[in-house]
Amino acid sequence: MRLVLIGPPGVGKGTQSVRLIAHLRVPHISTGEMLREAIRLRTRAGLLSEEYIQRGELVPDPIVLEMVGARLGEPDCAAGYLLDGFPRTVGQAVSLDAMLSERGTPLDGVLEMHAAREELVRRLTSRGRDDDQPAVVRQRLADYDQKTAPLLDYYHGQQLLYTIDGVGTPDEVFERICRALDRMRGGRAPSPAA
Ligand code: AMP
Repeated sequence: MRLVLIGPPGVGKGTQSVRLIAHLRVPHISTGEMLREAIRLRTRAGLLSEEYIQRGELVPDPIVLEMVGARLGEPDCAAGYLLDGFPRTVGQAVSLDAMLSERGTPLDGVLEMHAAREELVRRLTSRGRDDDQPAVVRQRLADYDQKTAPLLDYYHGQQLLYTIDGVGTPDEVFERICRALDRMRGGRAPSPAA
């Protein structure tokens, strides 16, 4: 299956993506990880991206799109993949659509992990990192809302968005994800709450 996973900081995306790729036997394509690796290896894309990442800004689209385009063309992506951290903007989603329709391999669905703001703040602030102070956490969540809300609307408009309640044990959340995958496979419409 060709999937996109979207969720705010603290929602448990990391835990669930590990389970999901094992379950589906597809590669996990995280643009953040790919960019960090490119920087370590001093590739051209890495050198071009480094400053943006250090400033916490988005890396320019041409760099990210070229990297993703090349990655999705690799043989291990033929049976599907889980995209994580990409697309991050509507512009990137439109470019991804164009790339996939050219290849005749449209997305099967977009999984959005959702949790109430207070729950995310509680989880993030209990981790105790420097950037997990309540005010900083709220800022990171506000950034997510601003950039991601239009993306969710975009995929909702395409009937691709499946919203999953991210509150519960990892097993409970994974069970909900599996049910969403069943709905996708059955060609059933996403939940109206999406
Ligand atoms: P992440 O690990 O997903 O939080 O990404 C870390 C950093 O990599 C981000 O702050 C951005 O600078 C960059 N990055 C990751 N994914 C993208 C993307 N899809 N578009 C632009 N920049 C990205």
